[in-house]
Amino acid sequence: MGKPTGFKEYDRNTPRERDPALRILDWSEFSHPMPVAALKNQGARCMDCGVPFCHTGDVIKGMATGCPLKNLIPEWNDLIYRNKWKEALDRLHKTNNFPEFTGRVCPAPCEGSCVLGINEPAVTIKNIECSIVDHGFEQGWIQPHPPSERTGKKIAVIGSGPAGLACAAELNKAGHSVIVYERSDRIGGLMMYGIPNMKLEKWVIDRRVRILEEEGITFVANTEIGKDIDAEKIKSENDAVVLCVGSTRPRDLPIPGRDLKGVHFAMDFLHANTKSFLDSTLADGEYISAKDKNVIVIGGGDTGTDCIGTSIRHGCKSLVNFEIGNRPPDSRPEDNPWPQWPRIFRVDYGHAEARKKFGADPREFAIETVEFMGNENGELTGLKTTAVDWSKSVEGGPPFSRVENSERVFEAEIVLLAMGFVGPENTLSDQFGLELDPRGNFKAEYGEYSTNVPGVYAAGDCRRGQSLIVWAINEGREAAYACDSFLMKK
Ligand SMILES: Cc1cc2nc3c(=O)[nH]c(=O)nc-3n(C[C@H](O)[C@H](O)[C@H](O)COP(=O)(O)OP(=O)(O)OC[C@H]3O[C@@H](n4cnc5c(N)ncnc54)[C@H](O)[C@@H]3O)c2cc1C
Ligand code: SF4
Repeated sequence: MGKPTGFKEYDRNTPRERDPALRILDWSEFSHPMPVAALKNQGARCMDCGVPFCHTGDVIKGMATGCPLKNLIPEWNDLIYRNKWKEALDRLHKTNNFPEFTGRVCPAPCEGSCVLGINEPAVTIKNIECSIVDHGFEQGWIQPHPPSERTGKKIAVIGSGPAGLACAAELNKAGHSVIVYERSDRIGGLMMYGIPNMKLEKWVIDRRVRILEEEGITFVANTEIGKDIDAEKIKSENDAVVLCVGSTRPRDLPIPGRDLKGVHFAMDFLHANTKSFLDSTLADGEYISAKDKNVIVIGGGDTGTDCIGTSIRHGCKSLVNFEIGNRPPDSRPEDNPWPQWPRIFRVDYGHAEARKKFGADPREFAIETVEFMGNENGELTGLKTTAVDWSKSVEGGPPFSRVENSERVFEAEIVLLAMGFVGPENTLSDQFGLELDPRGNFKAEYGEYSTNVPGVYAAGDCRRGQSLIVWAINEGREAAYACDSFLMKK
């Protein structure tokens, strides 16, 4: 612990965000990096507590508590305070293959369980993590390190999201020959085509992929396993297969009017937008434009926020975001104590931008959509909603009930469904003969990752259900160790 009194002397400081009124005019990242000198004091706020909950990575009440990667947070905080950036980078890379991704987009469960956070604002862990790795790249410290020997074993990793990339990186480090197959035209999974550019600029992913290539990993894009190459061929050509294909089936809203033109899944909207942006800075017009449209985003979370930020950048006319749950409280309720992830009301970047542009927070809480309305051309014109009451459940039905006479009508030409995902597609499970868990994910125990088919592993969202990048990296790394043990009989 560099400075025992740091937490008393310095206030929490986070990177300055660009003015929402200006940043909605472009697609660049919205945070300004913090000067190195200011970070030293932020590192000094870490108390190096006896039991640093920030890196425990436990799950309490279904939410991550502490860093799932078990990042050695107090150690690098101390190193930053002592100006030992290179050593801090080495400590960070010991547990996290891609701190430049998590440092930008992780919701930072570590900060929710920081001991200082019990009665003071938590240490700015995520920001320090991002600065360490960005500084490492600037200094040229992050270079390819191909393995010195090869084992002769071949492994196919299917899917190039954070789970697939972390898994491939670790297997390659162990000397195996790794091919990553990706059905999209670009590598990166949801980091490339889910999360928009203003949250994670895509050169950040390309830069890491280039290093992985130079370390010896082969990437094959535009190739769907199960369609372009079948499962049997992949199995017979490799000593092991790791499935990291994500949770790609979106939750639908099968209510009257669902087929109207203008109702889209969030991922169709976000994927096409980023692809068109990367291909032609949106000049090719190959995306769903929200320009001058009344937009309603159904569902909160990261996906909902990204739809808000994207629609605003298109120049939408109005924007409303529905959440079926109640508005969360401003501070932790009694049943959500530290070190649990605080389930509190947050203003994410898209909400801040909507407030700036339209003068009010875009969210409507405790509301359910009951019908989409359209015109004679089959085009969406609006929707009907009802309020819901979470204090009264329906017997044998949902845990809430509809409030009588609470119907409202909203005008909308675009509705974006951002209500989560219900598991991986079934092409691969059918072809490989995989068992599924009760939620429809590939069945493989956490910590083991082996499916019912010998030599076939599963990791990331396709195994645990829709989650976070930090969990995907954790699972990719651990699946690599399990696969390596199987191959090397260790
Ligand atoms: C819009 C959105 C925003 C998000 N924002 C955040 C955030 O800010 N922070 C955060 O921590 N998490 C966020 N998440 C969640 C996070 O992106 C995921 O949890 C994470 O990417 C899962 O990683 P994965 O590697 O398991 O799968 P994915 O990232 O989904 O990658 C799976 C890859 O497999 C490919 N694939 C699928 N089937 C095949 C096949 N048959 N053959 C070849 N390739 C195939 C897919 O094309 C995809 O590229 C967000 C999710 C979404 C949808
Ligand atoms: S990966 Fe996420 S949880 Fe872990 S230290 Fe970084 S910000 Fe915190």
